[in-house]
Order: sequence, then structure tokens, then C-alpha cells
Amino acid sequence: MSELRQDPTTREWVIIATERRRRPHEFGGAFLSKKENDRDIQEYSKDCPFCSGNEYLSPHETASYRTYGTSPNSKGWWVRSIPNKFPALSLNIENDASLYEGARGGVNTDFTGYFFPRATEVFRTKPGLGAHEVVIDTPKHNEKLPFFSDKQIQELFLMYRERYLDLHVNPKFKYIIIFKNNGANAGTSIAHSHSQIIATPIIPLTLRNNISQARFYYDEVGRCIFCDMIQSEIVDGRRIILQTDDFIVFHPFASTSPFETWIMPLYHEPCFSNASIDKIKALAIIVKKVINGMFNALNDPDYNFLFNNPPIADEKENYYHWSLRIIPRLTMKAGFEIGTGMSINTAIPEETAEFMRGF
Ligand SMILES: [Zn+2]
Ligand SMILES: [Zn+2]
Repeated sequence: MSELRQDPTTREWVIIATERRRRPHEFGGAFLSKKENDRDIQEYSKDCPFCSGNEYLSPHETASYRTYGTSPNSKGWWVRSIPNKFPALSLNIENDASLYEGARGGVNTDFTGYFFPRATEVFRTKPGLGAHEVVIDTPKHNEKLPFFSDKQIQELFLMYRERYLDLHVNPKFKYIIIFKNNGANAGTSIAHSHSQIIATPIIPLTLRNNISQARFYYDEVGRCIFCDMIQSEIVDGRRIILQTDDFIVFHPFASTSPFETWIMPLYHEPCFSNASIDKIKALAIIVKKVINGMFNALNDPDYNFLFNNPPIADEKENYYHWSLRIIPRLTMKAGFEIGTGMSINTAIPEETAEFMRGF
């Protein structure tokens, strides 16, 4: 099991993930930047736990969209959700009490033999309680998201919604993040297209800050800061890439990295979980179009995308307004960013947005 630890100086929580930890010597030279040669990747890979036909290599599915009459955990699916085999957070912590009760000081071990220091007043901990699922985006090993059929990407986004709605009823969870890491520079070494969903027992401090700023504006001005931002973007126009009946796609005024792209519902909606099925289908098509544009404009960049939602308890609160954010990994965090938490963006959003309108 894993553990949440709070930095007493920033109050930011960190997940110490023992089950997925690497030994110190394994970090040397582990940075992967070389892309697999796409021509060498076939539709099926015999060792890949995400490929159709290899279901026995992965944990039992939590949900799947599959051909009528086929059995769970066998072929016949087109989107499949499974628990992460090496979860950052997990619900399987029945025995955690023995780890956390008793005198302060000293050490204890978890089931992997990892030594946990006991919590003190300065060093706060919590059990690593949560959920961590993988959504396998496609049964095909070599199919990339920009080339999914419209139906495939729509069903993927409907799976995100289904898993969110299933997890958010658990009172132990405070926040749910849905995200995708694509490519080694974005944090994954598995070529088979997949996404992840993590439910956490705390609200991360970065999000707390977003929330308190949005709440403050709502209380002071009486409107949603994000709605006002969207209106300002429309009036300015220079950073907008795309606008439909339901959504707006733009490079934010204060983008933290080059080509950072936000997709937001044009009309006020606090949380992704409130969106209708039709709206989610429309969103999926836009995400495909935007990532396809990046594929062509930036030569198949590594990227992350993630949903920015309010905490579960605030899903209906009007101070917040959800977005999906796509961040191509074109630069790396360096000393200044790590030391200050501030970003240095070497691109101008007005210029990158104009460039992307051509793709
Ligand atoms: Zn595969
Ligand atoms: Zn709004």
C-alpha cells in the first residue's frame, strides 16, 4: 500500500507509492526520450497487457464496452477499464489501522516490507486510500488517438464519464482526476494508448488554490471567473483556435508552457460529471481534432491531457467551471520552475494559437 505525506512547510500532499517504487539505482539513465519506430509497431503485441486477446495479463475489468454476447475479461471489447496493477492509491487497506495506531516515533512495515516512519505532529501521514484505474482506449496496440474513429473516441469519453460517476458516490473520495499520458516525455513507456483515473482522499493544494481564487471572485463579483475569462477571450479573439455551439478551444492568456490548450464548455457548467451524453460526444470529437492538429503541426508530440474539475462535493457549485487541458511536452521543468513553482513559457500564446488555426 502507499501513503500520503504532507510537507509541513507547504502543506502540499505527496503520494509515496511503494508498490510502484523503483530502487534508487534504477533511476540512473532511465530517462526515455527515444520514440518507438511507429512502422515497427503491429496491431497486436503478445506481451502487452492492454492488447485484445491478452486480457489474462491484466486485473479483472471494472467496465467495458463490448460486442453483445462476449464475456467480461475476454476479446470483443472496444474500450475497457481495469484497476491499475500497481496503484498509486488503493481501497485495499483493511489492515492499515495497525500501521497508524500506537505510540509516535519508531517504524512499521507495510505488506511489501517497506518501512514507514510513524507520523508525528510535524510529519503528517494518511493511508494511501483511493482508487486508480486504467482505461484502455482501444483494443489495437498501434492505434493512436488522432486516428481513432469518431465512435471510438466518443465511447472512450463516455467511459470516462461512466467511471467518474461510479467512483464519485464513494464518500471516501474527495477528488477525481482523469488524465492521459502519451509518450515517454509525458510519463509513460507503454505504447498501447491508455488513460488513467485516480480518486484521492484529499483535495490537492494546487487545486485548493484554484478553488479559493474562483470562490473569492464569485463572492466578490457574483459571477464565474471562468465565464468572464471566456467572454474576454471571445472579445480579444487572438488566442482562440476553435469555437463550436458548445465549446471553446484556446491557448490561455497566461499559458504555463508552449501550446498549452484549454477546451471549455462555452456555457456555464461546474463539473464534467454534469455534462450530457451529447455534449461529451461533441467534446470527444473536438479533442480528436485538436490532438490531430498537434500531431500535424508539432510532429506527433508527447502530451498530457487532464480534466480540471472541482472537488466531488462541489460538483453543483457555480463558482467553478470545468475544462480539459492538453499540454504537449515540448520543454522540461528546470531549476527555476522546480524552485519557485512558477513557469517560464518560451512561446507567446497569441502566436501559437494563430499557428494552430492552420491545422
Ligand atoms: Zn497492446
Ligand atoms: Zn462559468
